[in-house]
Amino acid sequence: MTVEARKIRLIMKLRKSGITNTAVLAAIERVPREAFIPKMFHDQAYEDTALPIGLGQTISQPLVVALMTQALRVNDRMKVLEIGTGSGYQAAILSKVCRRVYSIERHRPLLHRAQKVLDSLQVRNITTICGDGMQGWVEQAPFDRIIVTAAATTEPPEALLDQLSIGGVMIIPMGYDKASQHIYRITRYEDGFDCERLMPTRFVPLLPHIATPSEEAELLRNPPEHLALQPN
Ligand code: SAH
Repeated sequence: MTVEARKIRLIMKLRKSGITNTAVLAAIERVPREAFIPKMFHDQAYEDTALPIGLGQTISQPLVVALMTQALRVNDRMKVLEIGTGSGYQAAILSKVCRRVYSIERHRPLLHRAQKVLDSLQVRNITTICGDGMQGWVEQAPFDRIIVTAAATTEPPEALLDQLSIGGVMIIPMGYDKASQHIYRITRYEDGFDCERLMPTRFVPLLPHIATPSEEAELLRNPPEHLALQPN
């Protein structure tokens, strides 16, 4: 099967699974997912599956990327904050449907690789930094939209709520354990927040602080099961 045929099959699956937003479908069609994943998995680039990207992290399943982007209700006038750059794929999808993306990653080696891929694809409306996304990005706040691509335990980080515009929307996975994790949509109003539970998911945890070299060395020595892969 050619890459084009695999891509069409994936788009059909996304449509069947409830992705109706044509801007989101067009973004998935235009962004080459293979550029964001290790060579050994290139044949699976257009399968609807999460894949390891090194340091115990994963690039999300295309359906999850599409559902979260659609749920974000984003348009091309909006400034979006992403927490968890990872491979850079979700940021690249966002870059096609909004005005500007700010993306934060706590693992420096992942961020460097993501930035290289985004540069090679000549994506120009994404700014990334290595930092603790739980603190948000004070200098760039407020944001029209915030998307968190790692799971919080019970509550969204306070700083992210603060940095959301009035009328703004945040998509965030939350839940104590993977079995009970769901994606939530939080909307900010003049007088408070509204929270809707959307669908069940399984994200890697949202962790505090920038990853230390010793944490990264330990992940390389002792990778989580199924994710035994070094960044390349
Ligand atoms: N959006 C990514 C998915 C990455 S997986 C993609 O499209 O590939 C989640 C990422 O969140 C991991 O890379 C992890 O290191 C990062 N992460 C977890 N906690 C974080 C935090 N507090 N600040 C920034 N990044 C964080």
